Amino acid sequence: MNLKEKLTHPVFSLIEKVADRNRHQVYAVGGFVRDLLLNRPCADVDCVVMGNGIELGRELCEEIEKKQGSKPDLHEFGQFGTCKFEFEGLEIEFVGARRETYTPGSRKPTVEAGTIEEDQWRRDFSINALALSLNKATFGDLTDPFNGIEDLQNQTIRSHRDPDQSFEEDPLRMLRAIRFASQLFFDIEPETFDAIIRNKEHIRSLSAERITEELNKIILSPKPSYGFKLLDAAEILPVIFPELCTLKGVETRNKKSHKDNFEHTLEVLDHVAYANGNLWLRWAALLHDIAKPKTKRFEEPRGWTFHGHEFIGGKMVPGIFRRFKLPMDENMRFVKKMVELHLRPIILAEDIVTDSAVRRLLFEAGEDIDSLMALAKADITSKNREKVLRYRNNFVIVERKLKELEEKDRIRNFQPPVSGNDIMEYYGLAPCAEIGIIKTRIKDAILDGEIENDRQQAWALMLKTGEELGLSCPKKS
Ligand code: ATP
Ligand code: MG
Repeated sequence: MNLKEKLTHPVFSLIEKVADRNRHQVYAVGGFVRDLLLNRPCADVDCVVMGNGIELGRELCEEIEKKQGSKPDLHEFGQFGTCKFEFEGLEIEFVGARRETYTPGSRKPTVEAGTIEEDQWRRDFSINALALSLNKATFGDLTDPFNGIEDLQNQTIRSHRDPDQSFEEDPLRMLRAIRFASQLFFDIEPETFDAIIRNKEHIRSLSAERITEELNKIILSPKPSYGFKLLDAAEILPVIFPELCTLKGVETRNKKSHKDNFEHTLEVLDHVAYANGNLWLRWAALLHDIAKPKTKRFEEPRGWTFHGHEFIGGKMVPGIFRRFKLPMDENMRFVKKMVELHLRPIILAEDIVTDSAVRRLLFEAGEDIDSLMALAKADITSKNREKVLRYRNNFVIVERKLKELEEKDRIRNFQPPVSGNDIMEYYGLAPCAEIGIIKTRIKDAILDGEIENDRQQAWALMLKTGEELGLSCPKKS
């Protein structure tokens, strides 16, 4: 097979020229070739050189300078024999062909110069072990020693080597297998999959950062539930995410059952993913019911309840983020807030929708109201179609009201129309409880629709409340 036509980026003809002049053999390898065959966009290309990768990188950058007048910034990593640079939107990395030998009991391989076949052999899966010649005589020719093309056609992730050995060498490959399956919607070949189950305990030796990187890619895939079901079937889920496992199962008492919260959570996550939700909204979907097992009770006549699961769930978010070494920043606070508030729009949609309830929701969600509405909408997963339709209809009403009230009252970015400073200045007060009382009174009056979000009306209410509190303006007396 020849893929010459697909190698349209200008860097490839430059590589061809420089490599031939210096009689280096060069191949594009790995993910880039796979994605080229799948017509997926790919922003980085790994090139394997039979010889010194850094030297070729330098020569190529000089060639680019000759042609364009400016030289790309070449980053060299001497200890690994690699270098990389960016050129016209593509990140290009060069490495010398490698042979890696692992000694039992040691994770660090010995690395020596090797052939392209050896380099392909050490790669993780057959679809990632394709090489594409960039030399003139064979430009675009594919080398596929392990039937990677066939696996691509059959949509299969397969280890071309003994998978037990491969996974013991580098346990991350097990997560990569599931991540690729989830991103590409591929199957995992049975022998490879069975080896994952056998080697799952080795996952424990991986750093949290490496696990999280793969987990985030699963979460960001088009249908993340598929990846999570694979993690579950491969028995990896209890190792990396026990909280999700405890969501599994249905209990029935007095003929009353609750839904399987694992299935439900994955369905909500898929809904958010279909709606193109970003990584953090997807995390919020994954964690929105995480405290249901902790709060589950059976109470007659209602049946199963999960009182307070949104608050307890919110409290669990920082701990989970810390364990996965996810950022403890505004993204974490966003996820926590989404978990805490996720029931609010639904409760509104269940009831008669009052303006004051909608204003309060807007006030608490602030700028994140759209995300919250998206999450709450995704959370409607009942098997009862009529119920789903009723909720969806009420949701439309809530959304319309949100829009109307926001236009009128600007609650999203609520700034008190009378500030604490205003109050202190007017009454000549030092900081004290009365200031808080007045501010809360004004805020509540706006949210309840008693007054508009307007300085004059708020000022009048301040005067009234001040009088009730026995305050007077010193300037007047
Ligand atoms: P993506 O860039 O979409 O995450 P990728 O396959 O390009 O996927 P990279 O991590 O960029 O993944 O790695 C590039 C190539 O290096 C892979 O295609 C594979 O051939 C090889 N590779 C990466 N990680 C491993 C690993 N843990 N074991 C063996 N080979 C690997
Ligand atoms: Mg890559």
